[in-house]
Amino acid sequence: MSNLPHEPEFEQAYKELASTLENSSLFEKHPEYKKALKVASIPERIIQFRVTWEDDKGELQVNRGYRVQFNSALGPYKGGLRLHPTVNLSVLKFLGFEQIFKNALTGLNMGGGKGGADFDPKGKSDNEIRRFCCAFMSELGKHIGADIDVPAGDIGVSGREIGWMFGQYKKQTKLWEGILTGKGGNWGGSLIRPEATGYGLVYYVQHMIQYASGGKESFSGKKVAISGSGNVAQYAALKVIELGGTVVSLSDSKGAIVATTDKGIDAEMIESIAKLKVDRKQLSSAADDFGSKVKYIDGARPWLHVGNVDVALPGATQNEVSKEEAEGLIKAGVKFIAEGSNMGCTQEAIEVFESHRKSSKGEAIWYAPGKAANAGGVAVSGLEMAQNSARIKWTSEEVDDRLKLIMKNCFENGLQTAKTYLTPSEGEFPSLVAGSNIAGFSKVAAAMKEQGDWW
Ligand code: GLU
Repeated sequence: MSNLPHEPEFEQAYKELASTLENSSLFEKHPEYKKALKVASIPERIIQFRVTWEDDKGELQVNRGYRVQFNSALGPYKGGLRLHPTVNLSVLKFLGFEQIFKNALTGLNMGGGKGGADFDPKGKSDNEIRRFCCAFMSELGKHIGADIDVPAGDIGVSGREIGWMFGQYKKQTKLWEGILTGKGGNWGGSLIRPEATGYGLVYYVQHMIQYASGGKESFSGKKVAISGSGNVAQYAALKVIELGGTVVSLSDSKGAIVATTDKGIDAEMIESIAKLKVDRKQLSSAADDFGSKVKYIDGARPWLHVGNVDVALPGATQNEVSKEEAEGLIKAGVKFIAEGSNMGCTQEAIEVFESHRKSSKGEAIWYAPGKAANAGGVAVSGLEMAQNSARIKWTSEEVDDRLKLIMKNCFENGLQTAKTYLTPSEGEFPSLVAGSNIAGFSKVAAAMKEQGDWW
């Protein structure tokens, strides 16, 4: 890769996948898949464009917009739009690359893509955000379509932004099409889509807990550390509470809140955090309202401040668990780590967790990567596409049941694939990161071959 620009996040995601494929028997059984990996690591297409918009003072602002159309072997490109000042091509290529294999694991027909802009919604008025979304879609709209590329939300893009973008697309094309997912519930959106990533994450971890305990344990009585306070973290926390677990932390980019009582962070507190996020306020202001029920730790992530925990669910952004934090979590008794965020753990943190999959003292630790554990969001996006195509609407129960089944299959697929290609030793948890990578990659590589993308 020496003559290529330095793309640290993309290189990290590529190496994470490639190393697990190389360290399994996949390339022995399918040596030709090495070629497939080479081809699949280059996006089919990248669209880069400028976005000009007017701020509230009437002044011109300009941002960089992107859509990485990474792989369409399994279906139309599918993946979110991120609006955040850190967005660049390396970040979007890493997210798009992960998305290909995540989408494959859902079992639905979706290719992989990702897009966004280096626009910072923080500190902007609603009108400024609306003007930005319309300007952004005025170019992106030329490159997407219900059977071409179907974006959705990611960091900085919620149902509100999806609405403004959808309206702009309709104005410029006259088409009412399912070109975005995460739409409003009464105009084509799927029920359970807002909840899906967080709920799906908890459903996935339920399978990990059940498998590890031989069906004896569940979330009931477990202490759960969560980072982030956006859509993924909020709904994961609510589902943990519903299942009888205790949520001990949440965080944002400025700091973390850690519960000081046995009751943890309750549903009412999560509801008030959700309200505050809509007004783009910081978590520190919620901490003031919660009084002595929580302590606010300025400038910190929660991991080294949560005390004893059983489960850790990173739910904020990439590389939010370092090697030291992974070691700290292990000392704090963590047994299950599953990423609600994409690439939430650094490679070093993954190595720490993976090296503890077997323990003679019954203290084995199990790690699940985002591309499996957080696949519930895009899975329900796939269900939204299906409902739009059929012009029907399923009930919450119907969508939730399908989500549960998809997360179960996703877990079992990773587990069985790890057993097939890595033969774990007696008493060792199969590697869910390797199993999920191999399962997702093999499915995409086989489809690419049949379509003549490599030979
Ligand atoms: N941004 C979400 C993800 O990382 C959802 C993408 C989608 O629904 O298309 O999977």
